[in-house]
Amino acid sequence: MTKDLIVGVDIGGTGIKVALLNTNGDILHKSSEPTPVAAGEDSVISKIVEMTNGLLQKENASMERVVGIGIGVPGPVEADTGVVLEAVNLHWKNTPLKAKVEGLTGVPAYVDNDANAAALGEMWRGAGQGAKDLVAVTIGTGVGGGVIIGGEIVHGVSGVGGEIGHMTIVPEGGPQCNCGKTGCLETLSSATAIIREGEQAARSGESTALAAALEAKGKLTAKDVFDAALAGDTGAVGVVDRAAFYLGFGMSHLGNVLNPAKIVIGGGVSAAGEFLFSRIRESFDKYTWAYAAENCEILPATLGNDAGVIGAGWLVRAKMA
Ligand SMILES: [Zn+2]
Repeated sequence: MTKDLIVGVDIGGTGIKVALLNTNGDILHKSSEPTPVAAGEDSVISKIVEMTNGLLQKENASMERVVGIGIGVPGPVEADTGVVLEAVNLHWKNTPLKAKVEGLTGVPAYVDNDANAAALGEMWRGAGQGAKDLVAVTIGTGVGGGVIIGGEIVHGVSGVGGEIGHMTIVPEGGPQCNCGKTGCLETLSSATAIIREGEQAARSGESTALAAALEAKGKLTAKDVFDAALAGDTGAVGVVDRAAFYLGFGMSHLGNVLNPAKIVIGGGVSAAGEFLFSRIRESFDKYTWAYAAENCEILPATLGNDAGVIGAGWLVRAKMA
């Protein structure tokens, strides 16, 4: 039987997404379900197999047509062995995910970190198409990233390469990060940071618009801050300016070291569009050597929530002749 289907899986702390793809990376069917974290790793893995079988049924196909199963997980991975070193949100440690999935399905499985998978997805079918040297950044609660050089993810020696969010941007006196350091990019440019700074601007009286929003709702969202900034509130503009400055500054280090063709920025915050991107670009250009800056596009990601499953599919596609 011709093997012409690829399964892409994105395991998150709250939900599992599974997609059935053709070998061009088009999504034929997809589904999502809550992650049964509390039931343990074997239940999560069984759920993935069950969801995969459900999608195969929709296609009137069987596991025999599946080339392989690619899986993105929220934590560092030993890519060769497919062992998940740690996934805090899943309560996993040294989980032999590849071996377990292969044991249940009889199909080759490939495992990588979810941010790396999202980067590969953008390279294959998203804003990164055509580039082999690119950096993908996801700005949400934290700042995640993936670095691709020559079409390959940079894993580093212990599986934590590409952790863009933990580049130290403010060396002394910066905000505390979950990783144990201070002044990480994640503490300055994530949605969490924008909310923290927005609430600070509201309380200090620096932003009247945000003070009103905070008074009315009790807490702010990153969108509140962007909306107020777009409407011209100077305090909110200041918050966006600082977050964008730090992001562009952080990206300049990658620009100088890696000379990428594209930097693709996704996640909820990237929806702020040109208002945000023009500011990131300004800071990036200021600190990146002109030879690198001129040849680097900074673009919004285009795949949204599908980047993870499509990129997980690429883990399989990349092994095909
Ligand atoms: Zn950190």
